[in-house]
Amino acid sequence: MSVKVDPNLMKDLEHFGLKDAKKCFHCGNCTAVCPLSTPENPFPRRFMKYVQMGLTDRVLNSPEPWLCYYCGDCSTKCPRGAEPGEAMMVMRRWLTSKYDWTGFSRRFYTSESFEIIAVTVVAILVGLALVLFRASNPNMEHAFLNSVWPAPAIEIADLIMAFILTFFLLSNTYRCFRFVMGDLAFKVPLEIYARQAKELIVNFITQRKFGECTDRMQWVVHLLIMTGYSTAFLLVAVFLAGGIHVIGLSWEWLMFQRDIVGDYPIWHPWRLLGYYATAALLYGTTYAIIGRIKKSKAPYKNSHGTDWMFLILLELTTLTGILIHFTRLLDWPMPTYVLYVVHLMVAVPMLVLEVPFAKWAHLAFRPVVLYLMKVKEAYAKTTEQLG
Ligand code: SF4
Ligand code: SF4
Repeated sequence: MSVKVDPNLMKDLEHFGLKDAKKCFHCGNCTAVCPLSTPENPFPRRFMKYVQMGLTDRVLNSPEPWLCYYCGDCSTKCPRGAEPGEAMMVMRRWLTSKYDWTGFSRRFYTSESFEIIAVTVVAILVGLALVLFRASNPNMEHAFLNSVWPAPAIEIADLIMAFILTFFLLSNTYRCFRFVMGDLAFKVPLEIYARQAKELIVNFITQRKFGECTDRMQWVVHLLIMTGYSTAFLLVAVFLAGGIHVIGLSWEWLMFQRDIVGDYPIWHPWRLLGYYATAALLYGTTYAIIGRIKKSKAPYKNSHGTDWMFLILLELTTLTGILIHFTRLLDWPMPTYVLYVVHLMVAVPMLVLEVPFAKWAHLAFRPVVLYLMKVKEAYAKTTEQLG
């Protein structure tokens, strides 16, 4: 089989944050210490080689970049400072941009000014829409959000946004599937895909492979952010959008800002789950921000612009949501309405730009790739038995 060499691969990856991969002299320490590397899927050394040799197709079709959770063990042990853990992270950014057929992800990852402009433009549009479409006579005696932005209007906007996000995320995930499965994509019987489906769910919920890394705190933080976000999203999109008087996509609507919040006692499951999501996001995000400021461990040493943008938007969304909770409890109408506008001006860009095109997309790609690897394994076993 001929191997195509792309002399520009290293340069291209540098646009996504690659810095030190050239320094690698292939001692293999990184692969030896990586708790997730296996004889069938050895990494990260092999990928340092692919990058140095310009083997674009190999990187594009490999699942391994998604098997790495960036615990940083390999970077700590590398005698050359080649930062193999960071290289794997860069490959995930690059792959995300390759899965994205619109080209938006590439722009987002490779240009900080484009990233800032995109977030600012979406934030301004959201702010303008909320100001322009507010009710002419809002309740200024009590903090009553429905009096400013009627629930049905918010619901329709939510549904449109959810539909667009789902479309982009699914179409990009389909491309991820095609790259990873290659020719096998439609050869594997559906029955095998169905039989392995539990892998997808288990990996999505538990991120259990990360738990095998030595720094288990990183796994906990990852899990908190992931479950906090997913809980909030599911509560709104699944449980409530089904008709229990949902009045917004943002979780603070659900947990704290629902004008019918008083209907639910403090121990109601919706409220408890909402409080869990907030606490998990606040702790996980603050921990990651402090770690990146202090560069306290290997995964926090090299921060890309998109890492900061992701954490800042998430932290601001959570903090403004908590503040709204208090202004509502205190029944302060104006601060509640202003904070609500600010809250959506950070929450919506995070959802619209990060879910299909950047960091949140990893939430879909990683479990999908882990699942596809199990599918491939099961298929190989079946063909072995038949042969
Ligand atoms: S990245 Fe570092 S540890 Fe890994 S093979 Fe290269 S030089 Fe060795
Ligand atoms: S960062 Fe951790 S999981 Fe990723 S390749 Fe290095 S040692 Fe393995």
